[in-house]
Amino acid sequence: MDFKLSEREELLRKSAREFAESEITPKIDAMEETGDFALDLLKPMAKLGITGIMAPREYEGVGLGYMARTIVLEEMARICAAVSMGMQVHHMAIAALNDFGTEAQKKKYLPPLARGETMGCVAITEPSGGSDILGLQSTAALKGDTWILNGRKCFITNSHTSDFWLVLARTGEGPKGLTAFMVDKDAPGAKTGRVEHKFGLRGSNTGELVFDNCEIPRESIMGQEGGGLGVALKTVSESGRTGMAAVALGILQACYEEAAKFANERVLYGKPISFLQAISFAVAEIYTELDICRLLCYRASWMKDQNMRFDTESAMAKSYTCDAAANCAKKAIEIHGAYGIMQEYKVQRLLRDAMVTISAGGTGQIGKVVIGRAALAPFQKKG
Ligand SMILES: Cc1cc2nc3c(=O)[nH]c(=O)nc-3n(C[C@H](O)[C@H](O)[C@H](O)COP(=O)(O)OP(=O)(O)OC[C@H]3O[C@@H](n4cnc5c(N)ncnc54)[C@H](O)[C@@H]3O)c2cc1C
Repeated sequence: MDFKLSEREELLRKSAREFAESEITPKIDAMEETGDFALDLLKPMAKLGITGIMAPREYEGVGLGYMARTIVLEEMARICAAVSMGMQVHHMAIAALNDFGTEAQKKKYLPPLARGETMGCVAITEPSGGSDILGLQSTAALKGDTWILNGRKCFITNSHTSDFWLVLARTGEGPKGLTAFMVDKDAPGAKTGRVEHKFGLRGSNTGELVFDNCEIPRESIMGQEGGGLGVALKTVSESGRTGMAAVALGILQACYEEAAKFANERVLYGKPISFLQAISFAVAEIYTELDICRLLCYRASWMKDQNMRFDTESAMAKSYTCDAAANCAKKAIEIHGAYGIMQEYKVQRLLRDAMVTISAGGTGQIGKVVIGRAALAPFQKKG
């Protein structure tokens, strides 16, 4: 067993950290204020290989794997989780195209994604309930050589910052009646709806997509007709859960840094408050959670890079890390006393951002459904 990152991975971390500190930091206040993703970050991210990190080289990507992606997302989230969130979903769209796209779709969509000309978007959730994928109500029907798409998607990351969307719709009955499509934003009958105003991850764009007799060509299908559930489950479970986990991991790293710095700087009774055992224990707890989560996140990404099955491990990484980030942000705020809830202090943003990661990318409870199934299976009676 080897817990050491490679030299290349360490270099990647260093350049992602430098980029996040110097280029993302100045954009945070405006993103918090407006709720708009700073699109001008995409080109510098592309230059560093962040936008195309998981796209194959033949489509202008960098061709790296999940571990590299996790490191980059973690470093960006340490500074600004909203930017990391936008990028994690961008990578999800790339992963889905890699796994299920036709050659023509890969050629059309992967290069602009890798070049940072637009953002990737995966639209599954509907007002009828995100956890109940089979209950989704958007429909697609073939008329001649054209699919007619009707329905509404909600809470979709990068809905308004993407030029094309991966959309799941019902084409028949039951689990084999779902199909995934690539829909260009200028397709007749396609439009963006409302933009959500979230209390956390404010700078990541979240909104609605509306399809009103939207016409898309027959070849817009991604994967097989009726294979949409497989596209959704693989994409959410693999790139989705590991990506959300990496975002939460970066938040957790920031919680630790802010808590430890403040504990050493704030002086009470003539000494830094870190001398109080209650404070040092709280920092110790955050530090330990950070280590647990990093191990969970890196193991899941490593397993994917080894082509191992890792749905339980990605669910554990996502559920545990998002909860831990929220719990540790609360602890970090408590260490700050009243300063912790003031806007000038980063810890309040960390709590808001951490809370949003819990439901995004499939809720913590749905993650536990996956983990529970695996945990109970060895002891279930046959027949
Ligand atoms: C910031 C953000 C970004 C998002 N980005 C995207 C995106 O890019 N694409 C996309 O398609 N969706 C996206 N979503 C939607 C997200 O995937 C859904 O919010 C999530 O799947 C939950 O769906 P819901 O909000 O409709 O809650 P519901 O499904 O209505 O669930 C309500 C509650 O019931 C619980 N619950 C449901 N089923 C079970 C069960 N079987 N066992 C135990 N508890 C259960 C849930 O955990 C939750 O607590 C995003 C959400 C957020 C907040």
